[in-house]
Amino acid sequence: MNEKAVDFSLDFFSLKGKTAIVTGANTGLGQAYAVALAKVGANVFAVSREIDWTDTKALIDHDGGNATYYEADLSDRSSIQGIVDTCVETYGSVDILVNNAGLIKRNPLLEFKVEDWDSVMAVNLDAVYLLSQACAKVMVEQGSGKIINIASMLSFQGGKFIPPYTASKHAVAGLTKSFANELAHHGIQVNAIAPGYIATNNTAPIRADEKRNAEILARIPAGYWADPSDLMGTVVFLSSRASDYMNGHVLAVDGGWLAR
Ligand code: NAP
Repeated sequence: MNEKAVDFSLDFFSLKGKTAIVTGANTGLGQAYAVALAKVGANVFAVSREIDWTDTKALIDHDGGNATYYEADLSDRSSIQGIVDTCVETYGSVDILVNNAGLIKRNPLLEFKVEDWDSVMAVNLDAVYLLSQACAKVMVEQGSGKIINIASMLSFQGGKFIPPYTASKHAVAGLTKSFANELAHHGIQVNAIAPGYIATNNTAPIRADEKRNAEILARIPAGYWADPSDLMGTVVFLSSRASDYMNGHVLAVDGGWLAR
């Protein structure tokens, strides 16, 4: 073993001095990612459409974390470069990008409106591609970086009533591998987290549907819907030195869903 084995400690998971852009950080999983990264020392550049940052700010302030809150609509392509430029102006770098923002539209296939296809693809796929590319340019200059995409069980399975969501999340898994292959030799790791069933606004309608909720719970080996905080360790790991030899992996955090 080389000297890394001697140096290895919890410091490998520290993000002190690093800067992380997290999209959709005002609520749900994005909030958990932003808070987790701030707790281990990162400057967080939190992006969302929502101007009410009260909850995220309170959680980050609680530990004396550092964050900047930036409003942008990711479905507007012209907003992308401004996110990266403002982050670099504010903190001097972009070390970590968490492409978390996403939306879901549910409707039977034959009734699905093309506007809904477009709105899902714009945020779940186009913005992921464009923001990753813009950040990668900064990261290649730096010679280091971490890009973490948010995939889904619908990166592996088809689902029902959510064709654009499924297509977008399969594509996110593909983009993760494609970016990883081109960026690994620049010292940049690109990976994805595929959350299972997590209690957030995104899943409120299916949790409210008694029959569907019971079916889902019966299939999860862990037996419960995760809380967003259950994914905090994963995002820290994938953002840190501890994962420097992981490239192009889609990591399921799903209470065992895919193992069934
Ligand atoms: P959520 O609570 O609905 O949060 C979605 C986030 O995306 C919000 O911050 C939302 O901001 C932001 N967003 C949506 N459209 C946007 C736009 N045009 N511009 C900027 N921000 C936008 O959902 P969540 O469950 O935390 O989902 C987060 C990610 O995890 C998504 O990519 C989702 O597909 C993925 N995921 C979730 C689950 C789950 O079980 N919950 C499972 C697998 C994957 P606003 O509040 O302003 O709308």
